[in-house]
Amino acid sequence: MATVLERVLPPDWRPVLEKVRRGERLSGEEGLRLLTSNRLTPLGALADEARRLRAGDQVYFNNNAHINYSNVCAIHCRFCAFGKSRNHPEGYAYSIGQIVEKAAAYARLGVTEFHMVGGLHPDLPFDWYLDMLRAVKAAAPEAHLKCFTAIEMLHFSKISGLPLEEVLSRLKEAGLGSMPGGGAEIFAPRVRNIICKPKETAEEWLWVHDTAHSLGIKSNATMLYGHVERPEEIIDHLLRLREQQDRSGGFQAFIPLAFHPANTDLSDLPGPTGYLDLRVVAVARLLLDNFRFIKSYWVMMSPRMAQISLAFGANDVDGTVREEKIYHMAGAVTPQLQTPEELLSLIWEAGRIPAERDTLYNVIHEYPARPPEGWRPLLVGDAAAAADVAPSGPPSVPLTLTDLEEVEA
Ligand code: SF4
Repeated sequence: MATVLERVLPPDWRPVLEKVRRGERLSGEEGLRLLTSNRLTPLGALADEARRLRAGDQVYFNNNAHINYSNVCAIHCRFCAFGKSRNHPEGYAYSIGQIVEKAAAYARLGVTEFHMVGGLHPDLPFDWYLDMLRAVKAAAPEAHLKCFTAIEMLHFSKISGLPLEEVLSRLKEAGLGSMPGGGAEIFAPRVRNIICKPKETAEEWLWVHDTAHSLGIKSNATMLYGHVERPEEIIDHLLRLREQQDRSGGFQAFIPLAFHPANTDLSDLPGPTGYLDLRVVAVARLLLDNFRFIKSYWVMMSPRMAQISLAFGANDVDGTVREEKIYHMAGAVTPQLQTPEELLSLIWEAGRIPAERDTLYNVIHEYPARPPEGWRPLLVGDAAAAADVAPSGPPSVPLTLTDLEEVEA
């Protein structure tokens, strides 16, 4: 007898389902056919099956904080609202002392990861970044430092005159734990010419990650969608990531990033639709068979869409975040913080099993498949709005089920 999944699938998608069940790789043509279809329900069911078979039912989150150390940037990407020139009134750069103060306060809140990225500052020397990592590590020795995108790594190589391998090795010695995945945008040169001409090429982005992986530095991979890209270019991007993962194996999560046009040179574009958000997550899950984690980044996608995407192949919702400037300067209206209770609520309501992880996907805390007696879903943003997210705020965010039960009581 046909299963529900088999019944909802269009007949010409059955071979794709068979491939997913046999653990076979999908082709680019199959990915393109799925991405350009408007049959959202069967696409979600197919991706959910792939997620279930490849990655199980746990959904991961972490207790992290973003520190965007400076937005001063020597180049200008048309899609970016964050980077500012040296003399721009909104340009800023924290001192190492200010960064350490934030890090120490966040560490008291139980944060296990600092995500630190910034613009390409024209004046700061490479030693400043090494000193910053050492100082943060000294202030928060338990925390993992996930820092600097590929373009920042290339910038460090340029300003220091050191080969990329040496730059990465010195950063690792100073405390770098892993790299985020930003800056990949869309690999196709046609798109890069329009949205980020001065940035690194696709080949350079992949080379930086390849080199990091060869040094034992894990990283993430991203794709910025919902601007001027074509469906074929999305598929090309995903296939190039899949090939790179086959080669170097150091990517942890794939994170699709929804474009926010406000305050950018591309503000006349409408940005992605909800349909596109979900289709991209689903097709990424189906094509990226060598990525265990597909992350729905709630800051860009909204907590509500991130929650729905859990039925479309995603199995990670990022973390608490607490302080985010890059997408909020581009008009994101999402909160700055999702508390652990809100993330738990979001996952439980979707019928999935929450797990708090560290940056390298070791599980720190397992939660039961079902919420405690009397639990009710939190409205997204409720707890965040009530919480003190300032770095010097009280360390009151509950992280364990015991704590949660006390709060509920
Ligand atoms: S995307 Fe990065 S490199 Fe480009 S302008 Fe913004 S901060 Fe600078």
